[in-house]
Amino acid sequence: MFVFYSELSKHLTKKRFAPQDIVYNRRNRYICPVDNYLDNDIKFVAGVGEVRAKLLNHELNIRTVGDLLSHYPFRYIDRTRIYPIADITEAAGLSYIQIRARITGINPIGSGRSRRFIAYAQDTTGEAELVWFQGIKWIEKRIEVGREYIIFGRPTFYRGLLQLAHPELETVEQALSRKAESGMQGIYPSTEKITNSFGTKGFFQIICNAWAIARNHIHDPLPESLRRQYGLMPLHEAYRNIHFPQSAENLRQAQYRLKFDELLGVQLNIQQRRTERLSKNNGFLFPRVGDIFTSFYNNRLPFPLTGAQKRVIKEIRQDTVTGFQMNRLLQGDVGSGKTLVALMSMLLAVDNGFQACMMAPTEILARQHFATFTRLLDGTEVKTAILTGASKARERREALEGIASGKVQLLIGTHALIEDRVQFSNLGFVVIDEQHRFGVEQRARLWTKNAQPPHILVMTATPIPRTLAMTLYGDLDVSVIDELPPGRRPIKTVHYTDAARLRLFGFMRQEIAKGRQVYVVYPLIKESETMDYKDLTDGYEAISRDFPLPDYITAICHGKMKPADKEESMRQFKSGEAHIMVATSVIEVGVDVPNATVMVIESAERFGLSQLHQLRGRVGRGGEQSYCILMSGEKLSKESRARLQAMCETNDGFRLAELDLKLRGAGDINGTQQSGMAFDLKIANPTLDVQILTVTREAATEILTADRTLSQPENRGLEALRRRYSSREEIDFSRIS
Ligand code: ADP
Ligand code: MG
Repeated sequence: MFVFYSELSKHLTKKRFAPQDIVYNRRNRYICPVDNYLDNDIKFVAGVGEVRAKLLNHELNIRTVGDLLSHYPFRYIDRTRIYPIADITEAAGLSYIQIRARITGINPIGSGRSRRFIAYAQDTTGEAELVWFQGIKWIEKRIEVGREYIIFGRPTFYRGLLQLAHPELETVEQALSRKAESGMQGIYPSTEKITNSFGTKGFFQIICNAWAIARNHIHDPLPESLRRQYGLMPLHEAYRNIHFPQSAENLRQAQYRLKFDELLGVQLNIQQRRTERLSKNNGFLFPRVGDIFTSFYNNRLPFPLTGAQKRVIKEIRQDTVTGFQMNRLLQGDVGSGKTLVALMSMLLAVDNGFQACMMAPTEILARQHFATFTRLLDGTEVKTAILTGASKARERREALEGIASGKVQLLIGTHALIEDRVQFSNLGFVVIDEQHRFGVEQRARLWTKNAQPPHILVMTATPIPRTLAMTLYGDLDVSVIDELPPGRRPIKTVHYTDAARLRLFGFMRQEIAKGRQVYVVYPLIKESETMDYKDLTDGYEAISRDFPLPDYITAICHGKMKPADKEESMRQFKSGEAHIMVATSVIEVGVDVPNATVMVIESAERFGLSQLHQLRGRVGRGGEQSYCILMSGEKLSKESRARLQAMCETNDGFRLAELDLKLRGAGDINGTQQSGMAFDLKIANPTLDVQILTVTREAATEILTADRTLSQPENRGLEALRRRYSSREEIDFSRIS
């Protein structure tokens, strides 16, 4: 904590502070204790203060000096490079540029809110316009007509003319005197409000101010020996080089070191927790394979299980007789038959006197699972119930009372399951379907419902390696269904542009004449986006026109409909009454109508690869040849084209997942995955930094084998590191998968 210098001066003799611990800002001098300098409130850094601190906190979640130092640049630009103005064109696609140009004139225009200040700059090759909307007085005072400046900023173009809004200006003399280290300058993640308040330069200045003091207070959490073993640069140097790179090689090493720390922190947590979980021995026991399971297996299975399904059920069964709590991730491509595995595992729980529940991400999916389960269990004594946000009073009451009394054995539902009023009598088994659709908190809340944790099975169609899965979701075991049910024919995928719409309609008629059904899906990125919405309703009208009643029945389904109407649409389509289903991506996950053979995806370029693959997985579920038709305009970005092409080339979810990563490059990983991630990482990307992930995993094992609780004095830093990455909010991560 900072303390006012004046208030503290009387204690100065008792407690010694080195000169570098005294922090000055404009009005006050503060003293900070040496040990936890990085924990100090950001407002005390010179140039910040109360107002900007609030802004930093609100916009970028930066509260302390340490947070600021861990706010890393996401890329670097070369400040030694100066472009001739003529070379900076729209086509060059440059995101930041630097020019050396003379100011030839200034022009303050407008008044009040629309006030602007324009300066004209010229080099030997061309002309540019510099514009300020804010801080006009400041720039007006400083800028000199006739003088040469180094000008740095983000280029935009207006009728081919280069414009720079709020550029940084330095006189040539200043620029020459600036100590050039590597010439690389970091570009920091920011928001509009932050840029308006600080300017790019101002933000960088604050990092410099913080660093000027912080550099004396960096404690390296890694023991020297460990650093040597893994060839890691000291933390102090890593911070310095990540913000002020001295060379490209130093920067690389700094990035490596900081990623290493994050992933090691995560690994220490995962492994320690795993040991803890396995030492507790408090898992429910399901020793019996009873009548319910056996008679289902013998008499009710609609088809023989695939080898992979059998194997996974066996793995789950083995887990539930050990006395340890199961935490298992089931990966299986779209259509591989995960639902049946879930049901049979839940029956095992019921056979042993426990309740089981299954949580699905959407209302439609929950209803569908419920319908499937009721059908398959019809005539058995297993009591099932459903609970969703849309449940009517009676359904809700029956579900709530039934599970509280123990009468209901299988409960299926949506997020509604995690509400407080849902009280189980003895919940022993939890299934989470399409788990990437749920946030960490949501998943966690489901299994805090019991004093003793239930076994947990989470299911996903997104295939990822185990180490990565653990880093994203916490400690777990992984099962894979790597085999599709027999008789599936690969779905044929083609890419059409709007010009082929007539052909598309012809094809749809042909399939419908064969008795098949068709999906037509429109993007809806945000449920509220009116534009998308219009596309969908327009599309519905167009299709109703081209496929008129009474020969054709078209159903519609989207997020804005009342649950009862959605349900009715789905029923029409499922029963075969409706031939065409026009929908938004609400049908993306899980919907199962085996008679549907055509999936038309409109504006396909607007979907991500995994989403396209999920959508395609809605067809090809019966024995018939199925088709996926990707519709788009003529104009496509390179990346969109590559995505659509990949879809046409392969049906393999694993390959598409890999490719998705490549196409997305170093950007963020699958947004939904990241938001569900159990650990808060700033620089490491577990999906891309696989090598570091593997190394830190080994390192963590080695460290914990020698000192399981990290209580040795030399491991004090490691324990701090572990704690730092232990949790997001107050969640018990040992229970998250
Ligand atoms: P997902 O893994 O994508 O959730 P589902 O569980 O919805 O897949 O199964 C997809 C389809 O395959 C369903 O229609 C289901 O009835 C069918 N199915 C599941 N297992 C088998 C099997 N062993 N043999 C034949 N069909 C199966
Ligand atoms: Mg499914």
